[in-house]
Amino acid sequence: MLTMASVESSHEFVGLIEKVVGAAARPVVLHEPSLGAEEQRYVVECITSGWVSSAGKFVEEFEARIAECTGARHAVVVSSGTAALHAALLTVGVKPGDEVLVPALTFVASANAIAHCGAIPHFVDSANDTLGLCPDALASHLRVAAEVTSEGLRNRATGRHIAAVVPMHTFGHPVAMERLLAVASDYKIVVVEDAAESLGSFIGDRHTGTFGVAGTLSFNGNKIVTTGGGGAIVTNDDALADNLRQLTTTAKRPHRWEFFHDQVAYNYRMPNLNAALGCAQFDKLPEMLEQKRQLAGRYLETFAHCRVGQCMREPIGARSNYWLNALILAFPDRALRDSMLNASYNAGFHCRPVWELMHRLPMFMDAPRAPLPVAERLADSIINLPSSPILAALPVAHG
Ligand SMILES: *Cc1c(COP(=O)(O)O)cnc(C)c1O
Repeated sequence: MLTMASVESSHEFVGLIEKVVGAAARPVVLHEPSLGAEEQRYVVECITSGWVSSAGKFVEEFEARIAECTGARHAVVVSSGTAALHAALLTVGVKPGDEVLVPALTFVASANAIAHCGAIPHFVDSANDTLGLCPDALASHLRVAAEVTSEGLRNRATGRHIAAVVPMHTFGHPVAMERLLAVASDYKIVVVEDAAESLGSFIGDRHTGTFGVAGTLSFNGNKIVTTGGGGAIVTNDDALADNLRQLTTTAKRPHRWEFFHDQVAYNYRMPNLNAALGCAQFDKLPEMLEQKRQLAGRYLETFAHCRVGQCMREPIGARSNYWLNALILAFPDRALRDSMLNASYNAGFHCRPVWELMHRLPMFMDAPRAPLPVAERLADSIINLPSSPILAALPVAHG
C-alpha cells in the first residue's frame, strides 16, 4: 500500500542514491564486472595457444594467485561456487542423512550444496552486526536442540548426525569467526566457510575462508572477481587439497595415458579460458577493493541522516570488501521496502531486496531450524544498493 510516509521515504531514498551515483548512465545495475584490455589479452592468449579447456597454464597461475591473496596453503579452482562448496562438504566427510548448520539468510547455493550431498540443511539465525551466522545464537540453540555423543553431535529431535557448520560472509562482511570456531570446537563440528562474497575481506590479517577447515569462493559474474562462472576451495590441509583435486577431476589417477578412476567423482574442473579471465581480474583486485571502499564510504556518509535506515558498516575488527552495499531499515517493513525498490527501479537504479529466507523456499520448508528472529527482521529490512567498483570513479553529484 502506498502511504504518504512510504512515498516520502521512497523519494528521499532515490534522492540519496542519486547523490552517490548520480553521474552514472542509467540504468545503474546492482553489480557489473570491470572488464578491459587485460582480460581481452589473457583470453586471446588462451585461444591462440589452443589451451582453452581443463589443462593449461592459467589454471595453475590462478590457483597460485588465490593462495597468495588469501594466505591459504592450497587453492583448487572449480566450475562454480556451488561446486566448490559441494566438493568441500563431501571432502570433509558430510554424508547422506547428515545435517549441516547454515544461516537461513543466505543465497540458495549454500543450502543447495548441502542438499547435493544428500544432507539436510539445518537453519540458524544471523547477527545484526555482521549479517552472518550468530555464534551465540548457535550455541544457545545447540545447547537445547543437540547433544554431543561418542559418534559426534546429534540432533535430539531428528536423531540425525550434525556434521558441519557453514557460515557465510554476507555481502563481504566477516562473521565473528573466532567465537564461531570456539562453539564449533565445543560441539565437535567441522567449519566450512562459504566465502563466495568475501574475497578481499579480512578479520585482523587473516582472510575469510581460512578460519575453517576449508573455505569456498565464487567467481560468478556478479562477484568482485569474475571468471564468467567459477569457484575455488581454499585450505591449509594438504590431504584435503589432494582429495579435492581428485574429487573435482573425475578421480583420475595421474598417468600419461592410462584411464583409471578410483571413485565416482565430478567433472568440476575450471577451464583454462575462465582461469585466464580470473588472472586478469586479480591484477586489478587491489584497485577494485579500494574503489569499493570509497563507494561504501560515500554511501555511509550520504545516508548518515536518512530517516528510514542506515547503511551497513563493516564489523569492528574486520575489513570488509563491501561487495554489496546495503541499507538496513530501522524497522522491518516489507511494504515500505517494496515501494522503495519500485521507486528506485523507476529512477533507473537497480536495487534489490535480500534473498528470501531459506526456510520459506518450498524445498527447504520442512528442514529443521532454530528460532530465527534476527534473520526474519533482516529479511524485511535490507535493500542492496548499486555497488559496481566503477561507480567510485565517477564524480559525486551536486545539488
Ligand atoms: C555467489 C554465491 C555462491 C556461489 O554461487 P555460484 O553461482 O555457484 O558461483 C554461494 N554462496 C553464496 C552466498 C553466494 O553469494
